[in-house]
Amino acid sequence: MKYEKLADVYQTLENTTKRLEKTHLVAQFLKTADDPAVIILVQGRVFPNWDQRELGMANKLVVKAIALASGASTEKLGGLWKETGDLGKTAEKLMQKKSQSSLFSSALTVKKVFDNLHKIAELEGSGSVERKVQLVAELLTSAKPIEAKYIVRTVLGELRVGLGDGTIRDALIWAFFGKEAGITYDEKEKEVTIPDREVYENYSTLVQEAFDATNDFAEVFELLREKGAKGLEHVEVKPGKPVKVMLFQKAKTIAEGLETVGTPAAAEYKYDGFRLQIHKTNGKITLFTRRLENVTEQFPDVVEMVKKHVGAGRFIMDSEVAGIDKKTKKYLAFQSISQRIKRKYDIHELAEKFPVEVNVFDIINYDGKSLLKTPFEERREILENIVDSLPLAFKLSEKILVKSEAEADAFYKKSLLSGNEGIMLKNLHSVYKPGSRVGFGVKVKPTMDTLEVVITGAEWGEGKRGKWLASFMIGVRNEDDEIVEIGRVGTGIKEKEEEGLSFGQLTKLLLPDITEEKGREVKVKPKIVIEVNYEEIQKSPTYSSGYALRFPRLVRMREDRGINDINTLADVQELAEGQRGRGSQ
Ligand code: ATP
Repeated sequence: MKYEKLADVYQTLENTTKRLEKTHLVAQFLKTADDPAVIILVQGRVFPNWDQRELGMANKLVVKAIALASGASTEKLGGLWKETGDLGKTAEKLMQKKSQSSLFSSALTVKKVFDNLHKIAELEGSGSVERKVQLVAELLTSAKPIEAKYIVRTVLGELRVGLGDGTIRDALIWAFFGKEAGITYDEKEKEVTIPDREVYENYSTLVQEAFDATNDFAEVFELLREKGAKGLEHVEVKPGKPVKVMLFQKAKTIAEGLETVGTPAAAEYKYDGFRLQIHKTNGKITLFTRRLENVTEQFPDVVEMVKKHVGAGRFIMDSEVAGIDKKTKKYLAFQSISQRIKRKYDIHELAEKFPVEVNVFDIINYDGKSLLKTPFEERREILENIVDSLPLAFKLSEKILVKSEAEADAFYKKSLLSGNEGIMLKNLHSVYKPGSRVGFGVKVKPTMDTLEVVITGAEWGEGKRGKWLASFMIGVRNEDDEIVEIGRVGTGIKEKEEEGLSFGQLTKLLLPDITEEKGREVKVKPKIVIEVNYEEIQKSPTYSSGYALRFPRLVRMREDRGINDINTLADVQELAEGQRGRGSQ
């Protein structure tokens, strides 16, 4: 397939903000597409969602590639860049000039673009920087000006056509089941008609579940192309490839929790750490965080423990890793181990200093067989057979069977006394639903609500804080996967110095991701996730979410969270509705 077709789609997407129009456009495009790579590229990605690799090409290298392909001088290129504020447009303009003078340029294919971008990610070591530049330049040389614009933006991870996972899912449904569901799209009014909602919802669930299990739209797309709906019925989770974790709902009280999950129920300690998905296949152990980031290298101690304490060759397990103080044998707060997640150096030293206990609570693949549909009780039984528990190292989560509120209540108190966050109550017969916040399990904990938000911008400080970013714009995700702002936070950071967090530190983290600077205000790529508490949520026209947090305060950095894990606008609305009276307490 020609890359030009994809470039056309990008262009049309760029010119509309209407989700239905985008869905229709992508659905039409997918119907004609013969390369699964398009569904990855159309979102501005190079890899499927589960694959965290990055191209590692900053502006400077892309500038070199454009110069090489266009023959433009550094001054000219720099000037154009300044004028347009966009390297994609800069490449487009320069290639326009070039293509006027050259008669022939070969037609670029989606495959060629995809292959070159993949090669870039694999390059390492000496000479790799030059080679990366060459690979991009090679694409630009055979690109039409409009193609050059989108290649550059894709390489920089700044395509910004606003295609969230929800839109891609819907586009797949429209493309493959549009006829059966009787979907019609009115091009003029840009309206859609769905005659039978139920049929539509069934397909929607099917596609969403396949995506949640594979985290790979290209795989879902391939299955649909090969076998239609049948292809999606047996999607399996495979060791080695991370799966979106199942999430739980919150219950205000134990009674409410038991009502949701039914009795008898499993009650487990809720450890205050971070979620870790443990994979083993072909003798290789891989560890993923909840945001599906591969952290195997950061946790050599856990890898050793898995080898020692699990008697199985192929599996995917779900666990919570908590920090422990080996001397007092007590749990440590999450902050103490959170720094281990991102650490790239002195890893063994840090592992010694901040040891962890792994608490395994679920298994979703055993011996290569998917257990997504196996009842929880049976999954736990498998775990009991293969995990050799050792406290303060690697063990099964503490669990009892509760039949009454009184039993659960006593267990809750015991859990809190042992330094845990609360308890989990789980339905014994439930399946495992990747990526869903379902009522198969609930958490009960006493702490107040916090929000996980992403930093979208900041303001340079004043006076002695002049060299630091001091006030941070924060946002949540709306239903179209866009980030909408909800307030500014500057409070709580000074108190975190002991945990190694400071304005200086945050400034350093955000500096490489600044995309715009106006006076003292900067905008940053939304990447850094923090947890904040607040006094109240108010309706407010000041921020794009329509809400504002009153007195937000930073609670902690969330290194284990990515932009897909942050709270949604729907969460904020729900919290706002449920908080009556909270502000005046
Ligand atoms: P929170 O911030 O309250 O941990 P969350 O959004 O990370 O919530 P939820 O699914 O809402 O995730 O709450 C359950 C979380 O508690 C799990 O994601 C997991 O990280 C953690 N956890 C600790 N102990 C257990 C356990 N025994 N079973 C399941 N989850 C546990």
